[in-house]
Amino acid sequence: MNIHEYQAKELLAKYGVAVPKGIPAMSVDEAVKAAKDLQAGGTSLFVVKAQIHAGGRGAGHFTDNPSGKGGVRLCKTPDEVRAAAEAMLGKVLVTKQTGPEGKEVQRLYVTDGVDIEKEYYASVLLDRATSRVTFMVSTEGGMDIEEVAEKTPEKIIKVSVDPAAGFSGFHARRLAFALGLSGAQVKSATKFFGALYKAFLQLDASIVEINPMILVGDEVMALDAKMNFDSNALYRQPDVFAMRDESEEDENEKLAADNELSYVSLDGNIGCMVNGAGLAMATMDIIKLEGGEPANFLDVGGGATKERVTTAFKIILSDPNVKGILVNIFGGIMKCDVIAEGVVAAAKEVKLSVPLVVRLEGTNVDKGKEIMASSGLPIISADDLGDAAKKVVQATKQAQAA
Ligand code: ADP
Ligand code: MG
Repeated sequence: MNIHEYQAKELLAKYGVAVPKGIPAMSVDEAVKAAKDLQAGGTSLFVVKAQIHAGGRGAGHFTDNPSGKGGVRLCKTPDEVRAAAEAMLGKVLVTKQTGPEGKEVQRLYVTDGVDIEKEYYASVLLDRATSRVTFMVSTEGGMDIEEVAEKTPEKIIKVSVDPAAGFSGFHARRLAFALGLSGAQVKSATKFFGALYKAFLQLDASIVEINPMILVGDEVMALDAKMNFDSNALYRQPDVFAMRDESEEDENEKLAADNELSYVSLDGNIGCMVNGAGLAMATMDIIKLEGGEPANFLDVGGGATKERVTTAFKIILSDPNVKGILVNIFGGIMKCDVIAEGVVAAAKEVKLSVPLVVRLEGTNVDKGKEIMASSGLPIISADDLGDAAKKVVQATKQAQAA
């Protein structure tokens, strides 16, 4: 689960991570009030930041003004804050991370403008290769870290933490020295990294990314913050869960989550319905091998009931790009005849309008095939995974051309 920058900063600040002062705003008037409140506290330069679940806001653009400013704007007065808020709220911001369709801005963060000496990059994440919580830092802050990783990988320094010993001053100093910090800066960085580590662990985060981390005098601060959480741990993180912004979530991904389906929408035109994540991955791979493009990843799980199969079909078909569907189910615990009944019932209920290829294997497979053949539906039956992929790619191409 993702949260907004202002929420991440609120959480991190509780752990002792230094952040500039800021106030979230849901309307233009709230933004102006936030600016005036900050002004009363001594602020003379404001930054209005669009709050969306995507980075690259500063370098992004709004669809109603493609050559105008992005989603991070410096303002000198509350009046300028008003103008910035008016230009952002309700508008669609396109960044490198939103895709071309962009995201509508519904929340703003009005924050202290900071005189930046230098921008750094810092993140904490779980390195799956070493199974350890790992810090990644770089002197190349404020920019696209993927680009740094590709062009100058030596500029990214990793320090992993032994889970038994935990984080210590030794790790903090290694990170600080790697960034070229010295003296009082090292002390501030030590506190900063220690707080990040504690927040990462105690909040069940999967990533904490500070880009940029900055130096103001000798103090290290988080100017931006991104946090992502392990969904499986949310039951014990009520404060984090309360920060969920459903308007940022994909409608279908929400419907899928409510029905215990794992669904991720993709850019292709072949809808996939599969049981088991591994089989789903393999199905997507083989579709690509045959020259097709999957429209989604969808794992209906082990106990795929008729209701679940129907919901899965509805989700797949609500994607206007879908021009063909491949159902690939291995009947283990679930029997193939039960699945076939579910597929037939679902196809009838949703008035299937695109070609449907079904590959069943496992317990009662013959009975399952018989049910599909006698259903009166134009279901294309396939014998194995390769056959299924060939058939669905071909049928989808024909449907697309028609
Ligand atoms: P994003 O990563 O989505 O573009 P950031 O919060 O990283 O958003 O902001 C982009 C850039 O804007 C930063 O790298 C920094 O140079 C500048 N910036 C952001 N917040 C502030 C601030 N409070 N004061 C001064 N400059 C800022
Ligand atoms: Mg950033």
